[in-house]
Amino acid sequence: MTAYDPENIFAKILRGEFPCHKIYEDDHVFAFLDIMPRSPGHTLVIPKAPARNILDITAEDFAHVARGAHKIAHAAMKAFKADGIVVQQFSEPAAGQVVYHLHMHVMPRHDGVPLLPPATKKEDTAVLEGHAEKLKAALAQG
Ligand code: AMP
Repeated sequence: MTAYDPENIFAKILRGEFPCHKIYEDDHVFAFLDIMPRSPGHTLVIPKAPARNILDITAEDFAHVARGAHKIAHAAMKAFKADGIVVQQFSEPAAGQVVYHLHMHVMPRHDGVPLLPPATKKEDTAVLEGHAEKLKAALAQG
C-alpha cells in the first residue's frame, strides 16, 4: 500500500493550512463539512493521527473516529430533523477513496430523498456556514 502523504488536503486542514467549516474537535478527532455534500449536513470525521485509511490506522484510532461519527450522527439527526443517517468509509481507489487521510462520511438522510452522487457540486460557502452553525448548536445541546 502507498505510504501516508502528509501533504494531503485533510492533513493541511488539520494543520490549519487550508480552510474548512469546522464542526467538532477533541484530542483524537476533527470533524468538518464536506465541500461537495451528498446531503445537507454531510460531515467528515478524521483522526488527528496520520492514517491513509482503514488499512493502516490503529484499531484504537479507528475507534476514536467511530466515536466521533456517533456523536456527529446524533447531532445531525437533531440539526436537520433527519429520518436517518448514512456512515461510509472508503479505503483505496478500488473502493472509491479520493483523499488519502482516513475519513468517515456522516450523511443525514430524509425519507424519499436520494443522496447526490459524489462530487456533484461545490456548495456555496454561505449555505455551508448555515449547516455548520446548525450542527454546532445541536452538539452544544448535547
Ligand atoms: P472519498 O471518496 O471518501 O475519499 O471522499 C473524499 C471527500 O472529500 C469527497 O466527498 C469530497 O467532496 C471531499 N472533499 C475534498 N476536498 C475537500 C475539502 N477541501 N474540504 C472538505 N471536503 C473535501
